[in-house]
Amino acid sequence: SYRKGGYHAVRVGDSFAGGRYIAQRKLGWGQFSTVWLAYDTQCSKYVALKIQKSAPQFAQAALHEIEVLSAIADRDPSNSKYVVRLINHFKHTGPNGQHLCMVLEFLGDSLLRLIRYNRYKGIDLNKVREICKCILIGLDYLHSELGIIHADLKPENILLFSTIDPSKDPIRSGLTPILERPEGNPNGGVTMSVIEKKLKRRARRAVARLSGTRASMGVVGGTPKSERCLDAIDVGCKLVDFGNACWADKQLAEEIQTRQYRAPEVILRSGYSSSVDMWSFACTAFELATGEMMFTPKSGQGFSEDEDHLALMMELLGKMPRKIAIGGAQSKDYFDRHGDLKRIRRLKYRPLDRLLVDKFKFSDTDAHEFAKFLCPLLDFSPEKRPTAQHCMQHPWLNIKNLNQNELKGESNVDKVDVGMSKLQINVGQ
Ligand code: ATP
Ligand code: MG
Ligand code: MG
Repeated sequence: SYRKGGYHAVRVGDSFAGGRYIAQRKLGWGQFSTVWLAYDTQCSKYVALKIQKSAPQFAQAALHEIEVLSAIADRDPSNSKYVVRLINHFKHTGPNGQHLCMVLEFLGDSLLRLIRYNRYKGIDLNKVREICKCILIGLDYLHSELGIIHADLKPENILLFSTIDPSKDPIRSGLTPILERPEGNPNGGVTMSVIEKKLKRRARRAVARLSGTRASMGVVGGTPKSERCLDAIDVGCKLVDFGNACWADKQLAEEIQTRQYRAPEVILRSGYSSSVDMWSFACTAFELATGEMMFTPKSGQGFSEDEDHLALMMELLGKMPRKIAIGGAQSKDYFDRHGDLKRIRRLKYRPLDRLLVDKFKFSDTDAHEFAKFLCPLLDFSPEKRPTAQHCMQHPWLNIKNLNQNELKGESNVDKVDVGMSKLQINVGQ
């Protein structure tokens, strides 16, 4: 993809916008862009630089994303709504063409990384609740104040950040920015991985220092030690990646959302609204708590991925009401006129609370309470799903679980939860 119309190749020390931003290291990439940590020499702070591929369709997509992000920034001057902030944007011409660049506030690791660091075992429910509250504030802002549908909500598109005093920024306190391209070989005699490792180690040490934990989060008796970093510093998350977002009254695409987080009305082409984000939110909350995706549909002999997806939904949530099942432009492909799936005839029903107990070893109480929170969000009837604002009032969000060790006054070591100690948590604006 590093060719005409594709990505712009960046090297450490490259400068952008007339020398204002200096590339430090690559943070990530997607289908549309590469994202770099850059140093803003004008404001003396780190930013994330999203450099779009140059072909017209990518430029078009970037303009759309800039328009959405600008509306988001305009209505939230204090940047308190858990949505990524667009700081600036400009064009950059390189050998592969002209690239639109977005300057975004620099955030930390995604919730997907958090799930991975926890070895796909699920995150402590108290933390899931805190993360859910942040996501809901972001969604409520998008839905009720701006009329924007995110349309691609998932753990990968939610990034952590720290709300602590910026003077304690783990990166800023432990790091000198690279201001020019190092001489010698392309990376100036040090390989990227060395720079990256150094950066990561420093950031980790600084976080550990701030929160009063040791830098090396040791393993005690085979169990990773503690989640204290997360408890000690104030961590939120923010919604990112507005490349697929749309205004509720100006919908463009018919097929939205990443497969596993896609709402039934999108599959059936029955029309959609902001409640599709609430469906994805429930899938995300489930994944945080269990470490596994809620639905992983696969095509099989004689049935498509879509039909498997619908079957999985019904096995977990009960039969879809006939009216809804047959109500979409695509319904005839999957359902007969009775509202039964055409090719998948025998469904194995297992309600959510049973699944949580049987497969994920939740206590009966935890399973029951969590299912009571999630099920309304997964209503087949989109208009019956609670809005983000409504969902914020749910009692589940304010339950505090004490686990066995805490009850005994011991530290929480039996839950596999490396927590944030190994993650990168950066300071917001
Ligand atoms: P996609 O194919 O998912 O649409 P994209 O090209 O639109 O990708 P993004 O998802 O916006 O790009 O960003 C790609 C990756 O860069 C993210 O998954 C994340 O790891 C990283 N990233 C994006 N924005 C930031 C930020 N503000 N701070 C830190 N890292 C970021
Ligand atoms: Mg993305
Ligand atoms: Mg995108």
